[in-house]
Amino acid sequence: MAVRKVLKIGKHQKVLETKSEAIHKFNRETKALIQDLKDTVADNPAVGLAAPQIGVLKRAFAVLLGYYDRDEEDETPPPPPVIMINPEIIESENPERGFDACLSIPGMMGYTDRATKIRVKYLDEQGKKQDRVFENWDARMIQHEQDHLDGILFTSRLKTLDDLFVYVTNADGETEAIPYPEFIKTTTTQAVEKPILPNRTELA
Ligand code: ZN
Repeated sequence: MAVRKVLKIGKHQKVLETKSEAIHKFNRETKALIQDLKDTVADNPAVGLAAPQIGVLKRAFAVLLGYYDRDEEDETPPPPPVIMINPEIIESENPERGFDACLSIPGMMGYTDRATKIRVKYLDEQGKKQDRVFENWDARMIQHEQDHLDGILFTSRLKTLDDLFVYVTNADGETEAIPYPEFIKTTTTQAVEKPILPNRTELA
């Protein structure tokens, strides 16, 4: 029961690209993992977090559903994260381009195609079977987290490096995102966080 360190791509690419194992028992270890996911997601600017990101290669993640549907002036605390265990996406439709960002790939974001409507079977945190349909941002986020369980990072879903962006501080001191190929050409631009690209030849 603790806030865990989030693994980043630079040091931990191998773990992050390993496929996680199904959870078979709702024992003390599983309960501790659920609590750690909740504590760690609450401690980070994140809307989702998968177990491999805290170094546990088990099929579980936490997601804040409906996060972007909330009224900005809504001062009530957001609902607690939903835990999905052994999730399976059994239907997906209508892919659309949208953005991905990841706590494990700091200082960057990218554009990927993901289904806008999915049906997911999973076990909830009580171990009860669930079968639900998710749309739009929730669907996108669940697909991102599901990818983590299969050792897939959003950077391997990019069609081209032009779809990868680095957050930089511009001349006015504001944060903006510029395409990665442009960033590596300009030596004077200051990245908000040092971008680390996964070691993948298909992106080179
Ligand atoms: Zn991620």
